[in-house]
Amino acid sequence: MTATVPNPLDASAEFAARMDAADPLRAVREEFEFPRGADGAPLTYLCGNSLGLLPREARRLVQEEFDDWSRLAVEGHLHARRPWVDYHEQFRELGARLVGARPGEVVMMNSLTVNLHLLMVSFWRPEGRRTKVLMERGAFPSDTYAVKTHVRARGLDPAREVIEVGPRAGEALIREDDLLDAIREAGESLALVMVGGVNYATGQAFDIARITAAAHAVGAVAGWDLAHWAGNLPARLHEWDVDFACWCSYKYLNAGPGAVAGAFVHERHGRRTDLPRFAGWWGNDPATRFAMGPEFTARVGADGWQCSNPPIMALAPLLASLRIFDRVGMDALHAKSRAVTGYLRSLIAAWGPEGCRVVTPDAPGAHGAQLSIAFERDARARHAELGRRGIVCDFREPNIVRLAPVPLYSGWQDARAAAAALCGR
Ligand SMILES: *Cc1c(COP(=O)(O)O)cnc(C)c1O
Repeated sequence: MTATVPNPLDASAEFAARMDAADPLRAVREEFEFPRGADGAPLTYLCGNSLGLLPREARRLVQEEFDDWSRLAVEGHLHARRPWVDYHEQFRELGARLVGARPGEVVMMNSLTVNLHLLMVSFWRPEGRRTKVLMERGAFPSDTYAVKTHVRARGLDPAREVIEVGPRAGEALIREDDLLDAIREAGESLALVMVGGVNYATGQAFDIARITAAAHAVGAVAGWDLAHWAGNLPARLHEWDVDFACWCSYKYLNAGPGAVAGAFVHERHGRRTDLPRFAGWWGNDPATRFAMGPEFTARVGADGWQCSNPPIMALAPLLASLRIFDRVGMDALHAKSRAVTGYLRSLIAAWGPEGCRVVTPDAPGAHGAQLSIAFERDARARHAELGRRGIVCDFREPNIVRLAPVPLYSGWQDARAAAAALCGR
């Protein structure tokens, strides 16, 4: 049974404690290490949308790699507990299940912005009249830099080629219909739609299947930045017919600062070993990789976009974390996430803090764990006050505080503590 927010709302501390005690995922919290306050008590951590907590198991898996390196040195490539030569294969099924892909459609490699560039090389193929890229205005800056410099690097002018769709004047959110209209309007001039699945600042989630279908209807490719989606919302990337996607692994995926990122390439493209790409030896067919010949033969699937041999020390924490996701399941996590984030929203509404409002949309499917709260004034001071009360959360320019009760390790009492601090109770 999925827990839901009671109507009318029960804002008592007893209620929150009771809900945590009854939470079937409560034990998972023990698998993570929490930062602690001056009194030694764990802080209320609502910042997993920025940097996820350390899974205890990551220490063990990294230590095992140190041990194997010490014990085996070069032999570890073939004889480590998890042989390094095909370490990335550990993610073949795990990674696919995480985002609703088929095995072979997902690979863990590089970092997010790098993957975005690598995938744009293959999937933004300006030709004749069809040259433009459509993205959201107010995207995470790295995405905007990537797209615009990529366009320039190919000898084209970003001012002509990049269409940015933003919120209407006086509004905070992008209307999905405006995105769809802009796609239709761009029509056959449109080569690529590249949008963030969940906006980092507002927490707004888009209907990936619907926007992807609209891109396809005008003959464009649809690529997604899922930095704030992966590990936050369930995905069905294969079924939604997404062409490509990429995401980082240090936010909801808890794989550590600067962790190895993920990439998805739909099977129908993965099969096309002739697709242009920036290649390296690790994307070569393993059958001939070590023949060391001068001809590149792409490996079928997302693996064919790898350039270098995988960074084992950096992948071990990702493996520890994804095993937890795989065991718990995105659907169970999302059910809890909706309940707890809904509860946080209800408390904020009931306690009505002055001079602030929740910007994140409320509709099911239009948000994940994060609520973005916009302050009319003194946003930084309010954020500092939350910090003084032991709530770890972050601030985004110009006036947004983001609170993310991540369902793996946050619960009802955490949400209540944050709402109380926010509302000056
Ligand atoms: C977090 C985030 C990034 C960060 O990029 P890195 O290459 O991982 O440093 C980029 N884009 C989006 C949408 C993000 O949320």
